[in-house]
Amino acid sequence: MSDEFLISEERLDIIAQTFEISRQSVVDLFNDFCAIEYQIKDQRLAHISRVLETYFKVQTGNPEFSIEYVPYEVHTPRRRGSMSIYRKWFKKFTIYYDNTRPEREIRVNISHELGHLYLFARYCSSGGSDETKSKYAKTTEPLSSIFGLFVVSNKNHFYENLSSTEHKHDNWESILNDFRNLCN
Ligand SMILES: [Zn+2]
Repeated sequence: MSDEFLISEERLDIIAQTFEISRQSVVDLFNDFCAIEYQIKDQRLAHISRVLETYFKVQTGNPEFSIEYVPYEVHTPRRRGSMSIYRKWFKKFTIYYDNTRPEREIRVNISHELGHLYLFARYCSSGGSDETKSKYAKTTEPLSSIFGLFVVSNKNHFYENLSSTEHKHDNWESILNDFRNLCN
């Protein structure tokens, strides 16, 4: 893994000097950021989660709906890598997942559960006819996996096609420069 974009002790100094602010202020903010960064990492599929939350709210007329992620914390052999349930009268969709597995596997497992959520909102919430409901019931497992496949393919496609000029910074100094220029 590359440390190109890692905020090191030395970089905290550079930031303080660049923005002419005390080192302590930078360190305090960095520590605060690290505390919320944990949650950023935990939201493994943040974009699709947000989109699906909104979709579910609209489809089911349930403005309080949210998705919750709960790691198992321990690996239990023979237990599935993930499972999900609706709670509080469909106000919450809780996805339990084995967070001891490799990141790649976690994403696959979670995307499958999100497939269940999507299919339910699309076919089984109030608007669905009995015919579509029964059709959905028979194929919900493969369709959830196929939905997950679309999600993970889409994510990989996006990251693979990040162009260095349009989206990505080549190195840490170029990020520093861009933000320094904001101050002018
Ligand atoms: Zn399933």
